[in-house]
Amino acid sequence: MFRNRNFRVSVLILYLWQSMTRHLYDVIVVGAGMAGTSVAAELSKRCSVVLVEREKHPAMHATGRSAATYIPSYRAENPALRLLTRASGRFLRSPPEGFAENALLKPRGLLTLLKGMNSESSSQELADLNSLLEDPVVMLPASDVRRRLPELSAEWLSDAWWEADVHDIDVHGLHQGYLKVFRENGGRIVLAELACPRFENGVWQISFADEYLEAPVVVNAAGAWADELAESANVGRLGLRPKRRTAILVSPPAGCDVTDWPLVLAYDESFYFKPDAGMLLVSPVDAHESPPCDAQPEEIDMAYAADFATQAVSGLEVRRIAHSWAGLRTFASDETPVVGFDSSAPGFFWCGGQGGHGIQIAPAVAKLSAAIINGDDNTVELSDLGFLPEWVSPSRLSRI
Ligand SMILES: Cc1cc2nc3c(=O)[nH]c(=O)nc-3n(C[C@H](O)[C@H](O)[C@H](O)COP(=O)(O)OP(=O)(O)OC[C@H]3O[C@@H](n4cnc5c(N)ncnc54)[C@H](O)[C@@H]3O)c2cc1C
Repeated sequence: MFRNRNFRVSVLILYLWQSMTRHLYDVIVVGAGMAGTSVAAELSKRCSVVLVEREKHPAMHATGRSAATYIPSYRAENPALRLLTRASGRFLRSPPEGFAENALLKPRGLLTLLKGMNSESSSQELADLNSLLEDPVVMLPASDVRRRLPELSAEWLSDAWWEADVHDIDVHGLHQGYLKVFRENGGRIVLAELACPRFENGVWQISFADEYLEAPVVVNAAGAWADELAESANVGRLGLRPKRRTAILVSPPAGCDVTDWPLVLAYDESFYFKPDAGMLLVSPVDAHESPPCDAQPEEIDMAYAADFATQAVSGLEVRRIAHSWAGLRTFASDETPVVGFDSSAPGFFWCGGQGGHGIQIAPAVAKLSAAIINGDDNTVELSDLGFLPEWVSPSRLSRI
């Protein structure tokens, strides 16, 4: 009797399998955040690509929750981040014709408050930093800082570094630009959760409700879920860690127009704030380890952010938090992105671990990923800058 039942089940599975539509692509990209969308767009210029996203709307996780800034000095001591940022800056400053309706970068400037810092060590650090940057960061005495931002409280008034080459990024415009390129090149988006891809007969196979997707290459751009996806594909984790970061929006002091305020960061990274649509976006620069999830802000982090803002800005009273959110920034153990083929799983390509840089390095990471998948070692532009792909290769990390 059991044999008879097993037989019927096998026939049913065979029937379902045969009735499912099979689609063969060159590449399946998982995750339609900034990483996956930009890689899919670059690949679609030469390959057939399907982009798979679990949510109803792409970009609703880290990508839609960023502070939207481009900062060349941010972790500039890390050569991979520095050069990916520099190469991406060239794209962001002059994207291809028709890519975006508006400029992708808008000047903002960054004031790093050196409160409590010894002036000798800050001068040395500034000299070291400037040896790495194209546009120098300059030291401003407290009197100039006061002139630039009269609303800065006496408590936080100090000498500061001024980085003019810091910009707001139009994240929506950038993401939409990549989606447009992808669609124009015939790319297909599937809104479904991709789980347990299997590698058989030289291709990755994924089944959805009524179809099979197959491709020799799968790109793991699943953000905070990148390790989970790899595990479900029997590839194994690389120890990528999602960390939660919080932001709140508060009203500026009464009658104060903050539109042209710079981004202001405490040197000890206890907070930053910047204008955002007439309000102030404030972050306590938190980095709490989290499982991959739809991150939500916690009261304590919102309270820290509000407290720092009130301390740093004269006349600011936080009576109400107009909006708050949190997102996950995902890091490898060396806080360097992970871009490249897995050494033990054929055709499994990692594009993750962008941490707090995933928007500002996206154009260069996308081009690098497409170049490697298309059989090149590097892009000409990154190679000219002295960028070495092994800096970001997954092979440098031990398997968990
Ligand atoms: C508060 C905050 C401030 C930040 N500020 C900046 C900044 O100023 N500048 C900057 O450059 N970066 C910043 N970042 C970092 C930046 O937002 C991220 O590095 C970047 O968005 C990561 O993009 P991603 O595409 O890898 O991830 P995500 O945007 O999270 O996209 C991953 C996608 O994969 C999908 N997915 C996962 N698993 C599956 C599956 N199995 N099947 C289908 N789909 C799946 C998810 O639904 C998600 O849409 C900030 C981040 C935060 C949280």
